[in-house]
Amino acid sequence: MSILIQNATLLTVDPENKIIRNGALLVEQDKIIALGDIDTVKSQTAHPEHTIDARNCFLLPGLVDAHIHTGNTLSRGLIPHDVALADWLGEWMVPFKSVLDQDDGKTSAQLVMLEMIQTGTTCFLDSLLYSRHGLEGVVNAVLESGMRACIAKFVTDSPRLEMKKGAGEEDTLGQAKSFFKRYNGAGDGKIDIWLEPPHLGRSQPVFYQDASALAKELDTGMTIHFMEGPKDREPLQKMGISPGRFAQKVGLLGERRVYAHGVWISDEDIDILAEGKVSIAHCPTTNMKVIDGIAPIPRMIRKNVNVALGCDGFSSNDNVDIFREMRTAPLLHNVVNADPTAISLEDALKMGTNNGARALGKANKIGSLEVGKKADLITVEMRRPYTGAERDPLGHVIYSCSGSNVRDVIIDGKIIMLNRQILSLNVDEIHQEVEKRAELVSAKFDARKSS
Ligand SMILES: [Zn+2]
Repeated sequence: MSILIQNATLLTVDPENKIIRNGALLVEQDKIIALGDIDTVKSQTAHPEHTIDARNCFLLPGLVDAHIHTGNTLSRGLIPHDVALADWLGEWMVPFKSVLDQDDGKTSAQLVMLEMIQTGTTCFLDSLLYSRHGLEGVVNAVLESGMRACIAKFVTDSPRLEMKKGAGEEDTLGQAKSFFKRYNGAGDGKIDIWLEPPHLGRSQPVFYQDASALAKELDTGMTIHFMEGPKDREPLQKMGISPGRFAQKVGLLGERRVYAHGVWISDEDIDILAEGKVSIAHCPTTNMKVIDGIAPIPRMIRKNVNVALGCDGFSSNDNVDIFREMRTAPLLHNVVNADPTAISLEDALKMGTNNGARALGKANKIGSLEVGKKADLITVEMRRPYTGAERDPLGHVIYSCSGSNVRDVIIDGKIIMLNRQILSLNVDEIHQEVEKRAELVSAKFDARKSS
């Protein structure tokens, strides 16, 4: 299919951060084949099969969420808003996750994807996917949605953490390998299967080495929750080793290694992450809501650590909207550092697009509007009245827009949402199933809490 998008203001996020006013972009099959001024782009196609008039819209690369838990959605309304990380996790999230079954897992993922598509996310890294929540169901839900995703299967040498008896190391890595072989590359290459071992210090060091060796053997990515709360430092302090040195020692450094949070780390750790080409998935809303602390993001950016953004889970954020994270990150770090340039507008937009693509090892395919890249893109309506939007497009996108401004979504050259109507999924059916499952989950959760 060929799609011509015209009359838009393009924020390309290319190496020069080019902004093209009254421009156009042409998609052929799954790729961008031309972009620039309207006449030049139109001269390259006689009859596009689809024309989108994006007057009064920005055209952006699709947003990338580098840390999301599709399995947490049905926790909405069940978890209090006034608990900090340790209690939030131990008293609430662990019991919540223990009552979910495979049908809950699939429905939860579908609900997250509805919200991601509606708010302009086209690619995501799904974190902490448990076998008992239905790996196949989640992958099939992603395939139906048309989204691009890296799905990180949780692997552990601790049956307690897997919440399932008998999940020993051999079992968990073996399961991950067969899951990888079955689904990696599915959906015309849109699905990648990754691995995720537990927080540092919660498994034996040798297990991280084994998981890392498997990721290398499969040539795939890994993600990990990394120094989110102050208590995460304790196991490593007991071992007398810093987080960066531990990660280095057990082979967790490298490209396509995405560490979520990175709050409680030192300058030496940052140097190790930069040298080791690790990416950080910064989750500013979660960090604020469950009182994790403040990650040293401006220092990381200055030291060339690749920093992407994540919405994390539902009850630590309540929304799956990368626009909000692109706004929150500069607001938070600029005030904390008493420096209005600690995170620039350009940094914020890159964190939600190109840096996310780089974290997921996809910078050559997505993350910017450039000829030859995959056609993952979104149109975003300027806020009415349009005062100032044309003059200051970048400021408008970061500080004024939210996911509700997203109008059209194209992924891999296919129209997934047009005029806010999602075409790839049956929205009413999903909402009905969500209501049904949310009631069941709520009953199971209440019973678990009172037992
Ligand atoms: Zn998380």
